[in-house]
Amino acid sequence: MDDVVESEQAEGDQGLAALRKSARHDLARLNYPAANWVPERTDPDGQRVLDVLVVGAGMCGQTVGYGLLREGIGNIRVIERETHGREGPWNTTARMPILRSPKHLTGPDLGVPSLTFRAWYEAQHGAGGWDKLYKIARLDWLAYLLWVREVVGLKVENGVGLLKVEPAGDLLRATLSTGEIVHARKVVLANGRDGSGGFRFPSFPSFDPGNPVRHGRVFHTLEEIDFARLVGKRIGVLGVLATAIDNACTALEAGAAEAVCFARRPHLPQVNKSKGVSFPGFQRGQGMLDDDWRWKIYTYMLAAGSPPPHESVLRGQKLPGFSFRFAEPWLDVVVDKDGVTVKTAKGTEHFDVVLFGTGFDIDMGRVKEINSFSPNVKLWADARSAEEAEANAEAARYPYLGPGFEFVEKVPGRTPGLGNIHLFNWGSILSQGALAGDIPGLFFGVNRLVPAISNALFRGDVARHVQNMVELEDPELAPTDYFVPRNKRAGTL
Ligand SMILES: Cc1cc2nc3c(=O)[nH]c(=O)nc-3n(C[C@H](O)[C@H](O)[C@H](O)COP(=O)(O)OP(=O)(O)OC[C@H]3O[C@@H](n4cnc5c(N)ncnc54)[C@H](O)[C@@H]3O)c2cc1C
Repeated sequence: MDDVVESEQAEGDQGLAALRKSARHDLARLNYPAANWVPERTDPDGQRVLDVLVVGAGMCGQTVGYGLLREGIGNIRVIERETHGREGPWNTTARMPILRSPKHLTGPDLGVPSLTFRAWYEAQHGAGGWDKLYKIARLDWLAYLLWVREVVGLKVENGVGLLKVEPAGDLLRATLSTGEIVHARKVVLANGRDGSGGFRFPSFPSFDPGNPVRHGRVFHTLEEIDFARLVGKRIGVLGVLATAIDNACTALEAGAAEAVCFARRPHLPQVNKSKGVSFPGFQRGQGMLDDDWRWKIYTYMLAAGSPPPHESVLRGQKLPGFSFRFAEPWLDVVVDKDGVTVKTAKGTEHFDVVLFGTGFDIDMGRVKEINSFSPNVKLWADARSAEEAEANAEAARYPYLGPGFEFVEKVPGRTPGLGNIHLFNWGSILSQGALAGDIPGLFFGVNRLVPAISNALFRGDVARHVQNMVELEDPELAPTDYFVPRNKRAGTL
């Protein structure tokens, strides 16, 4: 019986085992992994140079690794500072029961049907189970990602972080948390949503996020929080988008007495514009547009904001103690010994605990791994007029990336090697669209990044590849009567 049919009939663990077999067979049919074609190089110490170092093995990093193996770029390492199963936000700081995106998402499969989420789910719950599924459970998404990684045979080095990357001739020298120094031709920073700047804490006269006095009292919503300690507490939340609401709900469900979510806006943003541009033409085409279009699209997107999923709002609405306060910006936050005092535009509030649901910053100066390069990273501010950059200060801070997600030098020639670092995270949206952050764009993003790396590696070795072609001997005709040895051949050898 065909493996695929078999996998549809079995369910649960048995179904998954059958699907694994079927997926591996599909990969074999695609000649995966392709033979490595990149010539070996050695560093000044005689060690083999890595062709690509992928930093981060969340959804993006693992899909890049799989894409490189498919392309025949096998001399890679994929490092991840967290332990296995703690990559990305899914079972740590994400606090929503289901994904926002629709269930039929693809991406980590890179076009192989038996590696899709749907295949993974149907293998365990059958076609009927799939029909009944509303949206993907958060932890299912993590389990699915780990399953894909295992099936495609991607080796991830967990517990290994990149500390810094520096120029080293025509190579990059990476210092790892293990103390190891490695040389690589390319580095891909697939280091997550916070990988282009870190958490965003708004600036208030009396609050310093670096001051340990905030511990236990003020958290960013994407930090680890022990919700059991919030029982009976009154909580102030700055922000009304998805993460802010899901944190407020998690606190209330854990026994907090009240959670009040504040916004500067007069009401919730109403339309998720990115839904309307989630189709191949836009996803492929946006990064190929001229600067004026790209700037127009994302300055609009950033200003429009995105509503929280209705499921999160309904989750909050049902909980006694949950409320929104619109048109009430915060002016100051003071941590005192028994709580936090918040001065708002409308009055003074006292909370036991405060949560900042204020998202991530884009600030290349805060990406410590690339400290030695960051002053020379070209930003969108460098590509627009001073007036435009001032009027759109957030957009202006995004890096201005090249067509393969590579950094571009602000002053050409000052930081050799910068163009060999590819930024595959949220920081790339202004240049490329949302191809390295949200799930729907992942397929397009990896299929842009991997060919760009492949192209650059090939061009870097073109003389050698051409020489190999000239020297190639292939005794195709040896078994016949018409074979002519090289030294007796006429014309081009
Ligand atoms: C709460 C939350 C909910 C989301 N829900 C959705 C959704 O429903 N739909 C959707 O499309 N998108 C969603 N997203 C957006 C996006 O899909 C996720 O952020 C996703 O995790 C992005 O994958 P990633 O690989 O870029 O980042 P991550 O999954 O965060 O992976 C990055 C990895 O890099 C590692 N790392 C960082 N720095 C280093 C270093 N120096 N050395 C080694 N390793 C390093 C980190 O440990 C991390 O594991 C959500 C994001 C968040 C935060």
